[in-house]
Amino acid sequence: MDASDMGLDLEKVLLTEEQIDQRLTQMAAQIDADYAGQNLLLVGVLKGAVMVMADLSRKLHSQVTMDWMAVSSYGSGTKSSGVVRILKDLDTDIHGRDVLVVEDIVDSGLTLSWLLANLKSRGAKSVEIAALLRKPAAAKVDVPVRYVGFDIPPEFVVGFGLDFAERYRNLPFVGTLAPRAYQS
Ligand code: 5GP
Repeated sequence: MDASDMGLDLEKVLLTEEQIDQRLTQMAAQIDADYAGQNLLLVGVLKGAVMVMADLSRKLHSQVTMDWMAVSSYGSGTKSSGVVRILKDLDTDIHGRDVLVVEDIVDSGLTLSWLLANLKSRGAKSVEIAALLRKPAAAKVDVPVRYVGFDIPPEFVVGFGLDFAERYRNLPFVGTLAPRAYQS
């Protein structure tokens, strides 16, 4: 899927496929350097982080293992409340492990802040976060994100794993939707 498949639903491209690819390459190099010689576990948060996980992990030279979690944040509409339910838990025992949570976006930070506390309580040796996008202006809690792809304005974005009503996850770029897309 690309911009031409979206017709008038696309408002603007915020980050191109090339920009995302370049930034993920830099992030992977940093992660390789920071975790050299360690047995890192990447934890992807379903479903939004699928594309980031796929691309970032393939750029790493380190030996890593991967696992997945699915969480749902209770809240009204598109706002998360910080009350989180685990829909799919890890298959891996993370006690004593170095864990890197791979996320699509940090918005209010409430979901990740809960997840961080949850993973630390399982006795992980370290828990850090890599997120492709962060909206600093929307932060409600301060979450220490060690690897950030891009800081973006507090707008609703889609693409590269991020959806609107489950659509647009397969866009190779990150963009904003025209108002008409919300109405259809
Ligand atoms: P937080 O708890 O940080 O407010 O919310 C994080 C989750 O909300 C993200 O993992 C993502 O699923 C969703 N989210 C936050 N902002 C956006 C956005 O701009 N676009 C989309 N599609 N999802 C978002």
